[in-house]
Amino acid sequence: MAPAMMLPGQSSSTFLLSDWGWPVSLTFRSGEASPHPCDIADLLTGLVSIPSLSGDECNAVAWLRDRMAKMGYRALIDPAGNAVGTIGTGECEILLLGHIDTVPGDIPVRVEDGILHGRGAVDAKGPLATFVAAGAKAQLPPGVQLTVVGAVGEETWGSPGASWLRDHYSRPDAVIIGEPSGWDGVVLGYKGSISLTASVERPLSHSAGPETTAPEHMFAFWARLVGWLTEHNGDREPGFNTLDATLRSFNATGDGLHERAELSATFRLPSGTGSAWVREQTEQLANGVSLDWTFNAEAYRSERTSPLVAPFLSAIRACGAKPRIKVKTGTSDMNVVGPVWGCPIVAYGPGDARFDHTPDEQIELAEVEKAVEVLTMAIERIAATLATEHGETA
Ligand SMILES: [Zn+2]
Repeated sequence: MAPAMMLPGQSSSTFLLSDWGWPVSLTFRSGEASPHPCDIADLLTGLVSIPSLSGDECNAVAWLRDRMAKMGYRALIDPAGNAVGTIGTGECEILLLGHIDTVPGDIPVRVEDGILHGRGAVDAKGPLATFVAAGAKAQLPPGVQLTVVGAVGEETWGSPGASWLRDHYSRPDAVIIGEPSGWDGVVLGYKGSISLTASVERPLSHSAGPETTAPEHMFAFWARLVGWLTEHNGDREPGFNTLDATLRSFNATGDGLHERAELSATFRLPSGTGSAWVREQTEQLANGVSLDWTFNAEAYRSERTSPLVAPFLSAIRACGAKPRIKVKTGTSDMNVVGPVWGCPIVAYGPGDARFDHTPDEQIELAEVEKAVEVLTMAIERIAATLATEHGETA
């Protein structure tokens, strides 16, 4: 916890505006100097205190740009609305791509027993603040520059901030995605996802008659789908390697003449299973049900032999832990930029992803500090390799 912070309701403090001009529930004791701009607890608490629901991130983006500028970054807001900060100069680039937006849910921002509570604390402002702090701390060799991006819209379908970067930014030499992996873990891959809306409409029949009703027809489709998935997955352990569908909603309506049944579902795709193939297979089970698809992302995974993995493993070991290599069942901006840039890519960030999107979202500040240490070391190792390789090829 930052030494200059205190909790509301403690001692005689009143609520003040903090140095970012935002009314927040954490503030500084009067008479004490504001923390240094590189203070990670202060940086993260400041960022979490500014709401940044997807599509409404501009206040948090402007704050982060200004904070990065104070920390020595050349900082700006790009045309997509992302906060971008670059440090160092050179032809080789390490891109740290985090996201600044959050899902809905107002969670009072507070620090209790060294744990910061608040929407976005773990997904993904903890990882983003870690990026900003480690990027400023790392010693970069000549010829290597580092850019941190706080992207907008990651929590929405299509991820507009990262999609814009993918289409307008030249391919970096190494990319680290900012998502919680735990300070002692590194993430190699994420599943893909597509969503389905299935609907069926038929003339209303007498309930005592032999005809199948629209809801029955829809349930039969869902049963065929579940049966196919079970058969397809066989004895694979449920998780990263299975093809899964989650039923999101089911609705049946009628107007006296016709009845209609509709369901929505999300498919999670393992790597090697393309969305086009899943659609094709599902169409074959439709039997009169019409299917409407929304594409989100194909699965993407890096290999353990990626040049980014060893620097993280050795940095985690140097900080006293046994490193863990992970894959995730959700999606992230790795799915958006990875297939197009095709450069070495992993995801890293402090925090326990089980708190993502939950009402008790939280992150331990001591873990964030550890992650800054690990990431600083990893960046320095990656940058040194890039500088040597570039020197040799130049
Ligand atoms: Zn996230």
